[in-house]
Amino acid sequence: MATPREDMYKKSAEQLVAALRRRRFGAQFCATVQEAKEAVLALIPEGASVGWGGSETVNALGVKQTLREKGQPLFDRDSAPTRDAQLEAMYASQLADVFLMSSNAITEDGCLVNVDGLGNRVSALIFGPKKVIVVAGMNKVTADLESAISRVRHYAAPMNAQRFPGESPCRRTGRCADCVSPDCICTNLVVTRLSRVEERTHVILVGEDMGM
Ligand code: SF4
Repeated sequence: MATPREDMYKKSAEQLVAALRRRRFGAQFCATVQEAKEAVLALIPEGASVGWGGSETVNALGVKQTLREKGQPLFDRDSAPTRDAQLEAMYASQLADVFLMSSNAITEDGCLVNVDGLGNRVSALIFGPKKVIVVAGMNKVTADLESAISRVRHYAAPMNAQRFPGESPCRRTGRCADCVSPDCICTNLVVTRLSRVEERTHVILVGEDMGM
């Protein structure tokens, strides 16, 4: 039997899928992480090259390991032995056939909101890869743009900063100081209002909490 949270996520996803489609995104709801994994794999053509941005959500899907086992051509930044090799994979991912990522927040009316330090993730979201697959737990949905930006700056970014080396203030204190540190992970704040090429960006909403 579904929990109240699962019920709420499922019901609210109906309107959000419609809102995303109105903005020309591909969009679907998957009740579980496993369903979302299968949906992602179904969207990746055989032989297509695949890259990804840093994402706890994409990690949790387990899709990368499946793609490795299938012998899919990958720009595999995770397996890069050096920082230079990792950067090369990030550059190459900008021209991947398929790019995998999450979104730091999604508004109820269907905008994607992201911050990025280096910019490789939001760069690929905007232009480059032929297809971008965005997987996001319904816990990332916010009422409006203002609350999405607040979530990203005051929750997701300070939380994500704990995963990276560096000296951003939020890594020390857990709170955003609106920094201009060289280690800042909030260099770019990007709002994606629509998919200019219809369904180039495909959003998979997951009825479980995922990521930060
Ligand atoms: S302190 Fe800097 S890195 Fe941390 S959340 Fe604020 S702007 Fe981002």
